[in-house]
Amino acid sequence: MNIILFGPPGAGKGTQGSKIVEKFNLHKVSTGDLLRDEIKNNTDIGNEIRSLMDEGSLISDNIINDLIIKVISNKKFYNRLIFDGYPRNLNQAMNLDSQIRKYKQKISCVLSLNVDKESIIKRISGRQTCINCGMVFNEHYYPASNKNHACDPKFLSKRTDDKKNTIQHRFETYLNKTLPILDYYKEQNLFHQINGIAEIDQIFEEICRILASLET
Ligand code: ADP
Repeated sequence: MNIILFGPPGAGKGTQGSKIVEKFNLHKVSTGDLLRDEIKNNTDIGNEIRSLMDEGSLISDNIINDLIIKVISNKKFYNRLIFDGYPRNLNQAMNLDSQIRKYKQKISCVLSLNVDKESIIKRISGRQTCINCGMVFNEHYYPASNKNHACDPKFLSKRTDDKKNTIQHRFETYLNKTLPILDYYKEQNLFHQINGIAEIDQIFEEICRILASLET
């Protein structure tokens, strides 16, 4: 089962993706994480994309496609991928389809998390990630404490693109470039809408219901 998690920045794709990984033994591919790794490791790609990512613009399809091919062609992940933050435009969606076909796999569903713009801005501006364990918290909705987080609070950090004007730009990029690909998936009958404003566990239950209905 390969799944696409769809939704605006800050919709909770990463949070739900990690929960799905755990329960269904899948492998999550976040193009944002792959790109941040390139920056962290100071690779040529990392140096090329640093400022574009900081301003919230999309990275070129060639770079993204190369990163994705490595994952889809890896036999370890055969038919057990969750795509988070990918595809982000029609060209990427079509490239994904051709790679999936080439490696004899299929997309089982597209789960779309619906969240309004005001909530997104609040969620992203409060977002904190632990650079030690990777857990994601939110200053307003889900603060880190010694009950839910084992690492030292000094590891909590904000993403450099989680600034107010960048969030606005990322949201516009989502509306203009990413949202239009929903029609592409609606035509293929793969599309499921989910209320992304509900509680984390409630959203996850809904996702589990959808995934269970696919397997039968
Ligand atoms: P969010 O969904 O909260 O914006 P991500 O980690 O998915 O966070 O993406 C962060 C940034 O990484 C994006 O603003 C963009 O610059 C870049 N990026 C991530 N995925 C893609 C992609 N599939 N195509 C182009 N750029 C991407």
